[in-house]
Amino acid sequence: MTKPAYDLLLSRLQRAHTLHSIGGLLGWDEQVNLPPDSADQRAEQSALMAELGHGARCDAQIGEALAALEAAPEELDAEQAIVVREARKDYDRVTKMPAELVAEMARHSSASYHAWTRAKADNDFASYAPYLEKHLELAKRAAGCLGWGDRPYDLAIDLHDPGFDAATIGKLFAELSEGLVPLVRRIAASPIKAHPEKLRGFPVEKQAAFLREVTERLGFNYRRGRIDVSPHPFCEGNGADIRMTTRYDKDLPLSSLFGSIHETGHGLYEQGLPMAHHATALGQHAGMGMHESQSRMWENQVGRGAAFWSFFEARYRDYFGEQLAGVSAEELHLAVNAVEPGLIRVEADEVHYNLHIILRFELEQRLFSGELAVADLPAAWNERCEALLGQRPANDAEGVLQDVHWSGGAFGYFPSYCLGNMIAAQLWDAVRAAIPDLEADFAQGRFDRLLTWLQENVHARGRRGSALELVQAVTGKSLSPQPLLAYLEDRYARLYQV
Ligand code: ZN
Repeated sequence: MTKPAYDLLLSRLQRAHTLHSIGGLLGWDEQVNLPPDSADQRAEQSALMAELGHGARCDAQIGEALAALEAAPEELDAEQAIVVREARKDYDRVTKMPAELVAEMARHSSASYHAWTRAKADNDFASYAPYLEKHLELAKRAAGCLGWGDRPYDLAIDLHDPGFDAATIGKLFAELSEGLVPLVRRIAASPIKAHPEKLRGFPVEKQAAFLREVTERLGFNYRRGRIDVSPHPFCEGNGADIRMTTRYDKDLPLSSLFGSIHETGHGLYEQGLPMAHHATALGQHAGMGMHESQSRMWENQVGRGAAFWSFFEARYRDYFGEQLAGVSAEELHLAVNAVEPGLIRVEADEVHYNLHIILRFELEQRLFSGELAVADLPAAWNERCEALLGQRPANDAEGVLQDVHWSGGAFGYFPSYCLGNMIAAQLWDAVRAAIPDLEADFAQGRFDRLLTWLQENVHARGRRGSALELVQAVTGKSLSPQPLLAYLEDRYARLYQV
């Protein structure tokens, strides 16, 4: 009785997953390879794939198989029960949304994106405000359809980070900012300054060769993935085919290097998820915060650390001897860990970054609760920016209009970045407790013990539980901002001697 229904469920989920992955590949190709006049044709192809993919996820046979399996739960083993539970959640989310609302959201996102690019270029928030208001209204309507009408912002969070809600995140962020703001002020007062601008004129071909060497050593399997160039770096795909991208600027070599290590962290997570189960929760990631924890750990804890550079500095100088001739080892290490206040999130260092996220999280909550009107958003942004970051934007383009996310209706996404930093720091403590001489490996250019630990403890679990449950299971403690604060204090108070 159960076996045919379970097999049917798996085959339908596999079909939906395959269609989704084809859509992803088209999207990757659009960013990386598309000839300039081919956009209209690609838009048609992508729209058809999205339609087919949506149809496959709403397939009535999934609903029938789930109903049959749920009627006899005692016949399911523990793993099957997880697959059914998570498939039910996904299925309800796609089938409870009326097709007209989905179409309206897609249309509005497209119009809103163009309104945002114009508003940002013209520094004209007022022209964009009605689009943002409409996005809020659509998000609330969607929450009503999915049974979250009384908690629309919690739904926005849950869509990216299952298991988290605004109250949980609010508590974590409050404790984090309490510790961070004083650290930021101390570093700002330090006479020690990093000079990443001294690293200039790094030939792009050599940058590409160096980062290939680095990412291979970190463990990225290039037989199941590749790296290419795109305007905005990202990581797409899963299983046997991971597509990462980067971008190069000969005068910003560290940005390209760390962007690539970051995407490699995402890629290693995807490569580590159980390949036989990609169509189900057993082989899928545990939310964007967990995903981000993997990219952040490789980028920051590993890539900006002294042990990593004690191995790679010599190789870096082999490639860029001329450019680094006047840069001492200390200056290089400081440039890699430069902390500079700034107004722009995507340019922020790892100390300031979290404050940018806390600012956005606070404002999103106030927008959803109705406490803050969209028209008053720029003033609220500037005021909170000054309080948290100590700087006030001179205009909305470098303030409230800087990010693309809200123009696509992606509320509740920003917290993932900061949750990722917290999870990374807590996992980092756990792995170093398990392998006390871990960083001695890095100094020899070896990263396999770290990768194996992550594969066994994090990647292999897929989406068996929420990120919060996974952190608890792996580290023995509930998620806390303290490991992140301790890590930042340890690294940056020492570097900046504060
Ligand atoms: Zn990322």
